[in-house]
Amino acid sequence: MKVGIVGGGQLARMLVLAGYPLGLQFRVLDPAADACAGQVAELIHGGYHDETRLRQLAAWADVATFDFENAPAAAAAILSRQTAVYPPEEALAVAQDRLAEKTLFWELGIPVPTFSTVDSLAELHDAAQRVGLPAVLKTRRLGYDGKGQRVLRTAEELEPAWQALGAAPLILDGFVPFEREVSVLAVRGRSGETAFYPLVENQHRDGILRRSHAPFYAPKLEREGFDYARRLLERLNYVGLLAIEFFVKDGHLIVNEMAPRVHNSGHWTIEGAVTSQFENHLRAILGLPLGSTAAIGYSAMLNCLGELPEPAAVLAVPGAHYHAYGKAPRPGRKVGHLTLWADDPAVLQAGLKRLAALVDGGSPG
Ligand code: AMP
Repeated sequence: MKVGIVGGGQLARMLVLAGYPLGLQFRVLDPAADACAGQVAELIHGGYHDETRLRQLAAWADVATFDFENAPAAAAAILSRQTAVYPPEEALAVAQDRLAEKTLFWELGIPVPTFSTVDSLAELHDAAQRVGLPAVLKTRRLGYDGKGQRVLRTAEELEPAWQALGAAPLILDGFVPFEREVSVLAVRGRSGETAFYPLVENQHRDGILRRSHAPFYAPKLEREGFDYARRLLERLNYVGLLAIEFFVKDGHLIVNEMAPRVHNSGHWTIEGAVTSQFENHLRAILGLPLGSTAAIGYSAMLNCLGELPEPAAVLAVPGAHYHAYGKAPRPGRKVGHLTLWADDPAVLQAGLKRLAALVDGGSPG
């Protein structure tokens, strides 16, 4: 079976690595000649608008998928003329626009923060009145890892924020004073079969994921999250892995956003679950039975931003695993991650202290 992936970053790379044991072949399309998935699969060098390259990928592949949600919806349309494409085009289109996404959540009865669209400075002032401050101003499109967003705390901050972001359509979110952030990783196969990974707790800094812990034991929240995920999977007739990020406030979930792809908060599943999110995404899009999503013991994942620690120091920690993405070091760039696995939470905490000291200047998650 041949799998084409639009996007050749670390997510594509880990999909490829998970697909080798299944006997799959891969080609990835990426505008960067040094895209890191190109080290483990054949790289088609081309832009996401490049119809010739997209057709070339579709003609070869039995199924096409994505490693990021901002591929133009037109790319999915071109691919689907020649091959099966999962997840569905609608899921990509919704996830690309924070307004469409929040509207869908709202329609499905999934609690969202108060929000308002903003297309002018006057509308920003109105929106700030309605939503209240503090609030988070975000670009509707192409925002990720905290890019294209600003927290507004006082009325004086509105105009500078408008100057910085106002060239594009915006959305103003009420600031959620959350107790913690969690994510749900859900997968649906071609036959409609679904499976859910245990709830994951996530810690962000400057809008970027730093650490995940799983399973995060909170049965009531988990039930709520699985219920919301199920509504989205069914409404979108989804196939593949879907990640949904939530805030936890007053013991309930408020949705932030979804990603129609494998997700950074699911990297722990490579060592920490019976079947990784990468293998299950592939099983889903190929119409194969899904694998168990059960966690094995306790896991933590630490992102390596900018540079990687020495492998020997990491691997000296019992239960630690090293994942380098083959990317050149650059400040703030996700260049790898570490997973720590233990069968006892106290052992996990002890190992985590040692690993945290090696990552990101040793600062807490
Ligand atoms: P996003 O790009 O929407 O995933 O936001 C990145 C991170 O910024 C989130 O994981 C939160 O930590 C924070 N954030 C985003 N929106 C809000 C909000 N409405 N209230 C509080 N924090 C937020």
